Amino acid sequence: MTIRPRIIVVEDEKSIVRILTYNLEREGYQVSVAKDGEEALEKIRREPPSLVLLDLMLPKIDGLEVCRQIKADPKTAQLPIIMLTAKTQETDRVVGLELGADDYLPKPFSPRELVARVKAVLRRASRSELSGAWRCGVLSVDWERRIVKIKQKSLSLTPKEFDLLKVLVEAGGRVLSRDALLERVWGYDQALEIQSRTVDLHVSQLRQKLGPEGKRILTATGAGYRFQMPDEE
Ligand code: CA
Repeated sequence: MTIRPRIIVVEDEKSIVRILTYNLEREGYQVSVAKDGEEALEKIRREPPSLVLLDLMLPKIDGLEVCRQIKADPKTAQLPIIMLTAKTQETDRVVGLELGADDYLPKPFSPRELVARVKAVLRRASRSELSGAWRCGVLSVDWERRIVKIKQKSLSLTPKEFDLLKVLVEAGGRVLSRDALLERVWGYDQALEIQSRTVDLHVSQLRQKLGPEGKRILTATGAGYRFQMPDEE
């Protein structure tokens, strides 16, 4: 079962809250709302969401200060933040990114832009969780101890096969070209014909070893490979 990511919208302008909520819920996200900085910090500390959509112009505590406080608290420091900024707030935008916000969405924004940024930031965030344990169907991986299991049975992956799996999963569903895989897994900066075949060979071995989950490694014809993430189902 996939858990629906929860997004907190921090914004005092009702019309914008409505647009954000409507579009995010339509994409399957759970949405909660905070109308000012104080309420936002309280809600975030009580129950950290998957992502914070943070307007900068807020009553009581402004968005930059909210961002600063989220990043200063070890319990919430890892939370991804997307700032909502007006055109006139370019300096604030820079400060926000320096404070650790992950991205910004300039107002006015299109729903499509909103959803694209939210997805991208959530993907990047879940990638950094590769330090712990990870499950995908019957596959489970302990990235630190480099242990891969199907159901309870350990697989014997070669170091390159393990690295290949990790790089594919880290890409969060994006296609990686053979060149990109060679560079990240083998450390080559240029791909020769024979090296491209090395990638293909390792991919096919890895697919076999992953058993029922092997089909998640998809071939993008002429482009490369990608890993079908659990949230794509
Ligand atoms: Ca506002």
